[in-house]
Amino acid sequence: MVGNKEKSKEKRDKRLQEISLLRTIPYSDHQRWWTSETVAVVTGANRGIGFEMVRQLAGHGLTVILTSRDENVGVEAAKILQEGGFNVDFHRLDILDSSSIQEFCKWIKEKYGLIDVLINNAGVNYNVGSDNSVEFSHMVISTNYYGTKNIIKAMIPLMRHASQGARIVNVTSRLGRLKGRHSKLENEAVRAKLMDVDSLTEEIVDKTVSEFLKQVEEGTWESGGWPHSFTDYSVSKMAVNAYTRILAKELSERPEGEKIYANCFCPGWVKTAMTGYAGNISAEDGADTGVWLALLPDQAITGKFFAERREINF
Ligand code: NDP
Repeated sequence: MVGNKEKSKEKRDKRLQEISLLRTIPYSDHQRWWTSETVAVVTGANRGIGFEMVRQLAGHGLTVILTSRDENVGVEAAKILQEGGFNVDFHRLDILDSSSIQEFCKWIKEKYGLIDVLINNAGVNYNVGSDNSVEFSHMVISTNYYGTKNIIKAMIPLMRHASQGARIVNVTSRLGRLKGRHSKLENEAVRAKLMDVDSLTEEIVDKTVSEFLKQVEEGTWESGGWPHSFTDYSVSKMAVNAYTRILAKELSERPEGEKIYANCFCPGWVKTAMTGYAGNISAEDGADTGVWLALLPDQAITGKFFAERREINF
């Protein structure tokens, strides 16, 4: 008898095969809304999924800015792609550092004027396997949630007004889901607040993460109903998911011709430094949905959560 684990492995492998095939189908001329002048920015792109998204986007003919918090490592990573003939530029960007964000925006303004795509990929996780330390909770929430929010806010004024809309893609995780197989969120009040998209506000999300951090400081978080594995990381991604919905709603109020579409996706469990290379898919497969979302010819998709090129529940 085939167990559930085997069944989901079979399903996943089948979908990955389908996606590998889909990736080989070139976009037709009428689908390609972009040109070599289209500018995409990817954060935390010196390695892993971010690096791979840069490679794939540049492969589709966009100009891609590979950013990294470490200048030397980023220059080297960009060089690999530049030597491969890709149109890739580099600039330093630490999403935790407001002066680095400002400096980056200034550079973009001077060199490119505006950008079309922003992929928020930079992130940290300090939990490995069943080790569920919350020791680095502040760093995890600051980077994954506040850092992502800060770079988005800084970049929105630099996003091009165009008929096809600019795009924001946030790399999050199924671990941040409010419902579903992987979610172990037992705090019903938090779930209800974050699910209620009509009344969801940034303040609610900020308060939720602050409450979590307060409980960590007080040593009471274990009875707070937060996810039991990868706790701080899951809370950070839950917050980014919620923020993506708020952002999409806000941005949808912009007039036609000035739209920005914001979505998020889970790359799967990917063999990168973050997982100690213990994932079950390659960075190439993990990057796929992000690239697909950034290039979607269909303009009206916003405020959604995706995995393996399919919409999933928050
Ligand atoms: P990596 O650890 O390989 O990459 C993370 C990247 O983020 C690195 O380039 C890192 O830079 C960068 N980064 C961290 N902090 C900052 C910062 N303050 N400013 C700028 N860059 C920063 O992991 P992945 O490629 O796996 O992760 C990419 C994204 O995918 C993350 O958001 C992660 O949460 C998400 N994700 C990954 C999954 C997986 O299974 N791998 C599953 C679900 C989501 P540096 O090299 O300097 O540390």
